[in-house]
Amino acid sequence: MVLDNGRVKHYKVKKLDNGPYFVSKTRTFSTLKTLVQHYSEQADGLCVRLGEPCKKNEAPQTYGLSYNTVDQWEIDRSTIKLLRKLGAGQFGEVFEGLWNGTTSVAVKTLKNGSMDAEDFLREAQIMKRLRHAKLIQLYAVCTMEEPIYIITELMKNGSLLEYLQKDKGSTLSFSDQIEMAAQVASGMSFLELQNYIHRDLAARNVLVGENNICKVADFGLARVFMNENVYEIKDGTKFPVRWTAPEVIRYNKFTIKSDVWSFGILLYEIMTFGQMPYPTMTNYQVIQQVPEGHRMSCPLKCPKFMYHMMTECWNGKEQERPTFETLLWRLEDYFEQDVSSYDDANNFH
Ligand code: ATP
Repeated sequence: MVLDNGRVKHYKVKKLDNGPYFVSKTRTFSTLKTLVQHYSEQADGLCVRLGEPCKKNEAPQTYGLSYNTVDQWEIDRSTIKLLRKLGAGQFGEVFEGLWNGTTSVAVKTLKNGSMDAEDFLREAQIMKRLRHAKLIQLYAVCTMEEPIYIITELMKNGSLLEYLQKDKGSTLSFSDQIEMAAQVASGMSFLELQNYIHRDLAARNVLVGENNICKVADFGLARVFMNENVYEIKDGTKFPVRWTAPEVIRYNKFTIKSDVWSFGILLYEIMTFGQMPYPTMTNYQVIQQVPEGHRMSCPLKCPKFMYHMMTECWNGKEQERPTFETLLWRLEDYFEQDVSSYDDANNFH
């Protein structure tokens, strides 16, 4: 990953079996060190000469707010100071907060009665164990009284949906879009491996940090809410029907494959810079027509291979949808191609 005038570019360092390292086959190196040294001295085909190694600005991979919270992560709410409101969702509000006067955190405050504390705590025990660079880390909770607080890492640029809508393609390039999709696939393939289901994957539930870093948020929360029937299917306004696989609409059957369906919709959101899926249809029409086989057409300026990936995620037979692992390697494979062709107009549909 190279930062060129504020834009992130990707190069894949490759290695031949027992052979040298290279970015371009025309110049090979016996060690990684000599490769880095060479490109630090001259760009030699890269977009820019290598400068300083990337500073890790993101919150560290904290396993909890402190040693204490590792086992005992119900924390006293007086240690949390809410600083400013970042946004609001269906179930409550999100604040930027400070823990113990030192650590920046995000605090999700849940509307009173929106979930059962015990049920949530059971889910949170699992969520806390799910640690991955592309998943929002759950730090701690306050469940002793309402409103319940969920304390997580803070992401500077808010939700991916807002981020895409604000940019509208002015600074984000096609390779950035692929990179963001790959990061979500990476977080999701970890959940897949853990046999965990997200249930509400959408651009609004992916958060963005610096340098387009994306992490999947709110995994598993929908299940806890659903017990309360807040996500009641019949009430089309509350259920995220446009992200929902047909088998969920029909039989309430949530699996990792229904998450794959939602990932296809998320790809659509990424490629359209946050357009509402099925823009010309009402929720009712979506519920009626998608299980009957209706699918969105290829968005404008969307490369064929990306649209193809979406339609694979939207296979009516859930077992035929790809795994997140496959989606991840296919997206990552894109960076294997010649870098100069990434944003090539010829790639587009
Ligand atoms: P829903 O409740 O229907 O899932 P939502 O995901 O938009 O909707 P929230 O999860 O409550 O609602 O988040 C509301 C907003 O708060 C987000 O859109 C985002 O801008 C901001 N936000 C949430 N979590 C964080 C975080 N960890 N760091 C920074 N901003 C956040």
